[in-house]
Amino acid sequence: MQLTSPAFKTNAHRAMADAGLQKALGTAKGAFLQRRAAAVAALPEFEALRDIGRDIKNHTLANLDFYLEAFAAKVEAAGGVVHWCSTADEARATVLAICQDAGARTVTKGKSMISEELGINDHLEANGIAPIETDLGEYILQLRHEHPSHIIAPAFHLNREDWEADFRRAHTDLPADRVFAERRDILSEARTRLRAKFLAADVGITGANFLIAETGSSVIVTNEGNGDLTQTLPRVHIALASIEKVVPTLEDATSLLRLLARSATGQDFSVYTTFSTGPKRAPDLDGPAAYHVVLIDNGRSNMMGTEFQEMLRCIRCAACMNHCPVYGAIGGHAYGWVYPGPMGSVLTPSLAGIEKTANLPNASTFCGKCEAVCPVKIPLPKMMRHWREREFERHLTPSSMRRGLGVWGWFAKRPGMYRMATRIGVGALRLLGRGKGAFTSLPLAGGWTEGRDLPVPEGGTFMARYKAKQKQGRGK
Ligand code: SF4
Repeated sequence: MQLTSPAFKTNAHRAMADAGLQKALGTAKGAFLQRRAAAVAALPEFEALRDIGRDIKNHTLANLDFYLEAFAAKVEAAGGVVHWCSTADEARATVLAICQDAGARTVTKGKSMISEELGINDHLEANGIAPIETDLGEYILQLRHEHPSHIIAPAFHLNREDWEADFRRAHTDLPADRVFAERRDILSEARTRLRAKFLAADVGITGANFLIAETGSSVIVTNEGNGDLTQTLPRVHIALASIEKVVPTLEDATSLLRLLARSATGQDFSVYTTFSTGPKRAPDLDGPAAYHVVLIDNGRSNMMGTEFQEMLRCIRCAACMNHCPVYGAIGGHAYGWVYPGPMGSVLTPSLAGIEKTANLPNASTFCGKCEAVCPVKIPLPKMMRHWREREFERHLTPSSMRRGLGVWGWFAKRPGMYRMATRIGVGALRLLGRGKGAFTSLPLAGGWTEGRDLPVPEGGTFMARYKAKQKQGRGK
């Protein structure tokens, strides 16, 4: 997937003017928020579980080499093969080699963001192998030649009518009187059509929500059951996973699964939670003859030991983007790479470099909601602030902003001058805006007034009012 994050502002403007996108965002976002809130309210220990989730991930990251090696040893003991890949190129070459060794012509795929990060579909297609997405949202996007705009609901940016139109366009044999009143009607039709593909596929590729060091298992969660068919029907199963997906024990995975479903879709548990341990054994009725785990670093180990290490706790639930006012206004494609929303604004610069992605950590109001809902308590605003610091240090911020920050910094270090300057500024704005109520344009504040009005200040400065309030409080 091509990086278009440098065009974030243009993308965002386009997204805000797209009526269809705005309708889709409003519908989907509301549903996610309500369901999560209800699921959290119904579980009294949810807050305690968040602490447990954070601690499990912190402990694992602190001992990552140990748990990865333990996991790999268990996979191999169960008859599987582990491939260690430092870069995206290595991972793509590894997946292709496994498919070619299996003589694969078609490959079914479960939803996997790491597969998007690696560009697996394009690579397979370029080498004569047809990848078939089996998650309904991904299936529709494949028909549209688009990438996901959300990490758990790939077609978040589409309305039901779009789904239906694309589906009909791709399946011209559908009778015109076939009614699709709900998404689930399309799902059931897609299932029927995909069945033959599941049976014919030579290789199945899935992601992994977790890898369990204790047992050597990979875990995936889905609501459509497509992941199970992808990994059990073909002769070869490839599980793609980035290195931070490992957790120590089955019990740890279970604790995180309880957080994941509630935070993601507001379910107590996803409809299907599937554990895969090695290839098919003698008494098994189903399962692949060969089982491969492709472990991918692709920049994660560079985050270890830095102020961005905590980002590796992420369990990809999407709660942060579902609650983000910026994501809610522009959707996922505007972020210009695989991972949108607040988690993407931290992770994308870590993986793709701040030089190309400096817009992203600035795409935040710092309202703090992302951190407040994150099931593993990742301090996303703090990390976006760190990226802004690095952006400033590397002279990537526009010179006008640097000059502005320089002036602000000079005053901020001199509280007396700062108070006097803000008093003068507020007084001047009050004078200029007399009788107006709000400024619709203002020199040096065009970036603000282009999208919203700036109210004319009333009363004193914030500091003066804060001081008065404190005095009042002491007087009581
Ligand atoms: S950062 Fe937190 S809230 Fe966002 S996707 Fe990751 S785990 Fe979920």
